[in-house]
Amino acid sequence: MSLLAIRDLTVHHGQLRAVDGFDLDLAEGEVLAVIGANGAGKSTLLRALAGLNPPTSGSIRLHDRDITRMPAHKRLSAGVALVPEGRRLFRSLTVEENLLTGTYRRRRGPWTVQRVYELFPWMAERRRQNAAQLSGGEQQSVAIGRALLSNPDLLLIDELSLGLAPVVVRRIYQVLPDIVGSGTTALIVEQDVTQAMRVADRVHCLLEGRSVLRGRPRDLSTEQVEHAYFGIG
Ligand code: ATP
Repeated sequence: MSLLAIRDLTVHHGQLRAVDGFDLDLAEGEVLAVIGANGAGKSTLLRALAGLNPPTSGSIRLHDRDITRMPAHKRLSAGVALVPEGRRLFRSLTVEENLLTGTYRRRRGPWTVQRVYELFPWMAERRRQNAAQLSGGEQQSVAIGRALLSNPDLLLIDELSLGLAPVVVRRIYQVLPDIVGSGTTALIVEQDVTQAMRVADRVHCLLEGRSVLRGRPRDLSTEQVEHAYFGIG
């Protein structure tokens, strides 16, 4: 049984079909990267999974339970956590206070503040600093820690590497095996295609809301990915 089963999901922004007939089966422990150019519909898809953009049609099932119309706050309890685009930390709260906001509607599971500090050791040393003092990569790490503290089965990360230096991105991706090893499945929106191909078990490429290419990175040629990404051919 899939952890996540999406069937024919369509999401509109007004007249615009931002996501158009998207299908996906995601198994437990998988890392899926969704790639695509600006405006392809990646964020809309993730926000629909988190309950923030209501679908027009289609279905989303988590552990074979229909969550298509479930409101966002209930999805957290159902096991879906989103790291939103732009991280959205509380800038005037400390690192630790930001992490603790993730314990609201906490489920049972392996993730505790201590465990997040083990994942990102620098965070323990800087736990009393305001989030405003952190670099972009540090903020992204805190946002990931905050999401993990709900003990999600499915972790959604929007634009993981956007605006971050490559070395910082590599450091964040280094902890992904620990996250997946703890029993969390990851669905990541990644603009950096090379990075996506390196870290994901499978990739899906969106073009104008449609899934135009999908597969395991080793089965996809650079040419195929470029064509799908830019809509050539
Ligand atoms: P980006 O990398 O730029 O965030 P994306 O692949 O995540 O791109 P979306 O943000 O999902 O794409 O946008 C898909 C389409 O929907 C775009 O054409 C965008 O302009 C439009 N769109 C997104 N959000 C809204 C909104 N709130 N209202 C109207 N149109 C929107």
